[in-house]
Amino acid sequence: MKVCKFGGTSLASAQQIKKAAAIVTSDPARRIIVVSAPGKRFEEDTKMTDLLISLADAALSGGDTANGFRRVMDRYDEIISGLGLDTGLLPAIEEDLYNRLHTNRDNPPLFLDTLKASGEDTSARLFAAYLNSIGLAAEYCSPKDAGLLLDEPPAYPRLLPEAHSRLAALKDREKISVFPGFFGFSASGTLRTFNRGGSDITGSILAAAVQAELYENFTDVDSVFAANPRVVDQPASISRMTYREMRELSYAGFAVLHDEALMPVYRAAVPLCIKNTNNPDAPGTMITAERDFSERPVTGISSDSGFSILYVSKYLMNREIGFGRKLLQILEEEHISYEHVPSGIDDLSIIIRSRQLRPGQEERIVGRVKAELQADDVYFRHHFSMVVLVGEGMKHTTGLTARAAAAIARTGANIEMINQGSSEVSLSFGVLEHDETKILRELYKEFFSPVYAGL
Ligand code: ASP
Repeated sequence: MKVCKFGGTSLASAQQIKKAAAIVTSDPARRIIVVSAPGKRFEEDTKMTDLLISLADAALSGGDTANGFRRVMDRYDEIISGLGLDTGLLPAIEEDLYNRLHTNRDNPPLFLDTLKASGEDTSARLFAAYLNSIGLAAEYCSPKDAGLLLDEPPAYPRLLPEAHSRLAALKDREKISVFPGFFGFSASGTLRTFNRGGSDITGSILAAAVQAELYENFTDVDSVFAANPRVVDQPASISRMTYREMRELSYAGFAVLHDEALMPVYRAAVPLCIKNTNNPDAPGTMITAERDFSERPVTGISSDSGFSILYVSKYLMNREIGFGRKLLQILEEEHISYEHVPSGIDDLSIIIRSRQLRPGQEERIVGRVKAELQADDVYFRHHFSMVVLVGEGMKHTTGLTARAAAAIARTGANIEMINQGSSEVSLSFGVLEHDETKILRELYKEFFSPVYAGL
């Protein structure tokens, strides 16, 4: 049994939905189908989820909702007529949207979740209806009835352990299950969504629960590329990689798969394949526990901007027991998670995602570290990027850091920080944001172009 997930662009229009349905039809093992809400039909288009967020925001601020409501309904109308489905489906969708819009607004985040989730929910109902109309036995599957159980709010929406056995029952269904992605319910019945792009997580949870032979994630690219195609011209395709490599790449800038979507399939050892709805015959990228890494030490190079560094120094820091713990405790109390902590004997830097810092917090943290830890020097620096080399083969290759550093030196940029993950699957460089693009291109040339890479 295979679990297939179709992303927003794969279901953005009637034409795309027909392609997704043809993919389902072509392989009887495709028994559980997870769907996103309709995505963009063209570059300037608006995703259904964003339409729904605007609608919820308008309702919460007491603004006009009629226009937003219409825009949502127009998209469904277009899809239903394009698929030749019974237009009698529309009033039920309209009623559902109306009811969601008129639920309790006392808790804005939960109200927002209720509206956002309607995109996936309606998408699943429409996809099931279309599969039926072309003669396939398929049914909409409700996450509440199936038992996709998540933590109670306000905790982060994590899957409850008991959900596994309930969801495992999906494999015994006779019809193809069409399951809306992106949301589940707490034990008390509260609807909760994952972060944006979270339908990938739903697909992975279901694939793990039913012990699928494969989790196919259909998107709009032929494969995962070795570097961002918007920066590097025609980067190499990655045909195979490990879960760890995908995790490291999706950490910094590889938006193909939600970074939380790997854990369920990884734990259940279900292989994951990223494929293209517009070109389903292309083999895609296969992600498994092991792979043969003899060909290249570096599998991919990712990069992401928006990092800040908290620099702290104190004479004889290395002898002060508990210094690191107290420093990290301050960050914990400020609700800030950190990414890397490179250190010297008397100083250390804590690298965080800048978006976590709220107004006034920076000054407060600096003041607290100075006062509570009697540090000599404490300050924040901003506008950093992380450029990360990823590859299982790196630990078996000597001289790789030297090659990377030499490539960065050729660009004239300074390396602000180097960090090799203990597993040696990744090597990260902290650089100034304005140097990121040229560094990425030069590193790609070093490790992927036949001349430099010695291939
Ligand atoms: N529709 C949601 C989003 O746009 C979830 C998803 O597509 O995975 O983020």
